[in-house]
This record gives sequence, C-alpha cells and structure tokens, in this order.
Amino acid sequence: MEKKLAELKQRLLEINDLNSAAALLSWDQSTYMPPGGAPARGRQMATLAQLAQEKFIDPAVGQLLDELRSYEERLDYESDDASLIRVTRKNYEKAVLVPAEFLGKFYAHTAEGYQLWAKARPDNDFKAVEDVLKKTLDMSRQLAEFFPGYDHIADPLIDFSDPDMKAENIRKVFSELRDELVPIVQAITEQEPADDSPVKQSFNEDDQLAFGMQVAQDFGYDLQRGRQDKTHHPFMTKFSLGDVRITTRVKENDLTEALFSTLHEAGHAMYEQGINMDYEGSPLANGTSSGVHESQSRTWENIVGRSRGFWEHYYPKLQAAFPEQLKGVELDAFYRAINKVSRSLIRTDADEVTYNLHVMIRLDLELQMLEDQLAIKDLPDAWHARYESDLGLKAPSDVDGVLQDVHWYAGTIGGAFQGYTLGNIISALFFDAARQAHPEIEQQIGQGQFGTLHGWLKDNVYQPGSKFTANELIQRVTGGPLRIGPYIHYLKTKYGELYEL
Ligand code: ZN
Repeated sequence: MEKKLAELKQRLLEINDLNSAAALLSWDQSTYMPPGGAPARGRQMATLAQLAQEKFIDPAVGQLLDELRSYEERLDYESDDASLIRVTRKNYEKAVLVPAEFLGKFYAHTAEGYQLWAKARPDNDFKAVEDVLKKTLDMSRQLAEFFPGYDHIADPLIDFSDPDMKAENIRKVFSELRDELVPIVQAITEQEPADDSPVKQSFNEDDQLAFGMQVAQDFGYDLQRGRQDKTHHPFMTKFSLGDVRITTRVKENDLTEALFSTLHEAGHAMYEQGINMDYEGSPLANGTSSGVHESQSRTWENIVGRSRGFWEHYYPKLQAAFPEQLKGVELDAFYRAINKVSRSLIRTDADEVTYNLHVMIRLDLELQMLEDQLAIKDLPDAWHARYESDLGLKAPSDVDGVLQDVHWYAGTIGGAFQGYTLGNIISALFFDAARQAHPEIEQQIGQGQFGTLHGWLKDNVYQPGSKFTANELIQRVTGGPLRIGPYIHYLKTKYGELYEL
C-alpha cells in the first residue's frame, strides 16, 4: 500500500508541476507580457492544461485509487493519507467526465476571450465580445452536461469553485441576506453621505505601495515566500507553498485602491502560505473553496483592515507617510471615509454593505442565462435594469456595466460569483469563532498585533488546506452550518455605530 500511495503522490506531483507552470504563464500574461505574446500564450496555457488533464485522467490513476480504497477505509477520515485519497478520488471522478480535448478548447477560448475583453472594455464595445460570450455560454452548458444528475444546471459549475454548494441553497441563503441588507442600505443612504475627500487627494504611488506592503507583512504575509506586482485586475496566485504572489493596482488619486486590494490579496495569500507544508505538490495544498478563500481576503481587508481599532494604531503611521494630505484629517473623519456606504456601479469599488447586492445581481443573471431565460444580446440591458431596480442606478455605459468584471470573459458563465458573498458570510462566522477562543483579539488589533488571530486562523482554517469541504470546515470551526447571523450582526454593529441607525 505504501508503494501504491507513493506512486499516486508522484503522479499528482507531476500534474501539480504542469498546473503550476500554467499558473506562472497566466501570472506573466496579466503582469509583464507584451501584447505580442498573447496568441502563443493562449496556446501554451491550453497545451499545459491539456497535458495535466491527460495525466490526471490516466486509467492508472483510477486503478491506484481503487487499490487504495481498502487502505483508506482503515484510516481516520481526518488523516492526511485518507484525505489525500478522498479528495483525489472526488477530483478524479469529476475529471474523467470531461474530455481532455474539450478542456483544451475551452482554455484556448477563454484565453482569447480575456484578450478581447481587455480591448473591448476601454472601447466600451460589448458587440466585440458578444460572440465570444455566446460561445462561452454554450461551452459552460456543455461542461455542466458532462455531469449527469444535477438539480440545477449551475450546480456542476458551482462545484468547481465551491464544492458541495448548490444553486438552490445559495439562492435561499442569499435571499435571506438580501432581506436583511436592503433596509440597512436604505437607512444609510437616506442620510448625508460620508465625506471621502480625505482619501481622494493625490498620493505618491511608491509610498502607497510601501505602506500597503508594510501592513500586509505585519498581518503575516511572508515575503520570503511571496511578492507583489502591478496588474489591471488584482489577484493572488500560487506556484508552490513557497511562492504565493499577489498583484495590485494603484490609483494616484484614491488611497483606498491599492491599500485595500493589497490587504485583500494578502489575505488570500496568507491562507495558501498557512497550509501544512507536508501537503506541498498535492491536491490538499490548496484553499478548499472560493468561498472560504474569499472569507480570508475579507477578514484581513474588512473585518481587520477597515476596523476602528486597526486604524487607532495605523492612522498615525499613515499620517506620517502622507503628512501634507492627512495632517488636518481626524481619525474619525478618516474612518468614516474608508467606510463610506453608497449605491455605486462598480462591484470592486463597493463598500461592505452594498457589495453583496452586486454579487447577487451577477449570480441571478448567470443563472438566468444558463436556464435559457436570458440571451447574451439582451445581457447589457438586463444588467442595467437590475442595477436600476436593486441599486437605483443607471450606468452611463457598459464599461461601468456588463464589461466591468473579467469573470464571464475568461471563464465559465456560472460558478464564478457566489464565492464572494459566501466569503463575506463565512468571514464573520470564522472571526466570531476566533474571538470566542481568544477574546483579546480585538484589543490586540488596536495595538497592531495580529499573531493571535493569524495563529488561530492558521491552526483552524489554513493548515487543513483542502482536507475538509467548506461545509465540513464551517461545521468543525463554528459548531453549526452556513448561516448569516454573525455577518448581519457584524454589519449592524459596525454601521449602526457609524451611521447611528
Ligand atoms: Zn478575493
């Protein structure tokens, strides 16, 4: 059995290496690659993805998993070996259902889609991507159809990023959340809007980057195993547990852009850096779902990075970095500025309270597209209509509408957005559990100390990697299922105070 397990691990390691090389090509495509590299790059990434897929669906892998079944059954569910076999088997059973040829074509298609979107967006030209999106919708449906027995056609697509989460349950939890959020947004936006002019002055780019990276390191982001570069659409990526990178974008006239994107991506990166090093190169060495991943970016960006306590410690340092701009701005005014709530058009700029409404619009639209209730050509209008009804806003163009997010242009339609709101819900669940274990955490944040929180998250959430599904992890860490109570409590407490609700 030991020999068979070693053979399985060796095969998984080679697959991991191919995927890591593809990830590096993708990182380069989004950071430093000159435009002329685009056509070949799409093909190269497709080739690597296809090789990895072919290696993984090799019948020899299936045979090893069969032979290891009796060994797995003798082990504890939580043991590393049992978990590796279990998680690999689930991935394998899914992977064999998708032909390698289809995946290769799909990756080539999305690489092309990304390039077209990158040009169509500044040109405000939805027509330029309409055909690509039509094909994406077709291919997303085809992909889902490879998995028989689903309840909703989005379920197999959701399962890729949030395993075991179902469209029906997500719709239910999200609608509970919407019922709570709408009156809060209403009550806040009836008031005088917060003044965010203090953060909308001119700030030197290098100083912005330096401040953000200092905070990320104080949080616990390890630069011996990471780095930050600039891109258009910030993301985190990993080539091994020893090389977990983040990207950001800087706006000279908006202090919040680079800072909070750095803290957000550092949260993602700390999750990956915190995974048990013994899992290196195996399927366990990944965050377990997009929802849990997003819970960690949101914890560090919002629950910590936009808290009053955090800024009691860091605001004097920020004032020292930007004395001209901030010397006359009180902490309270700054705190209100970075937590300004407003109805806005752009998801990535949205505040904590309205953010989830943006996500719900996207989820609903993609479910409608998959259900054949909404055609691609009608998508821009449907988008504008939902923003008018849900957020009371009409976008002046598709740049601030359906062209704003990369997801549908560079991936599937379906399965890409639910993780953001699941993440917000889960962030409060986990932070609540951490605070119950260590009530001193909030006071420590006010002193610029994050070791207790980071340590608790590492032990309870990061170390297991993909060993447990999101639902299992939530049950283990919080003693109950996915629920919105702690998140709503968090929002009501924080914004109740800020806006005297
Ligand atoms: Zn994120």
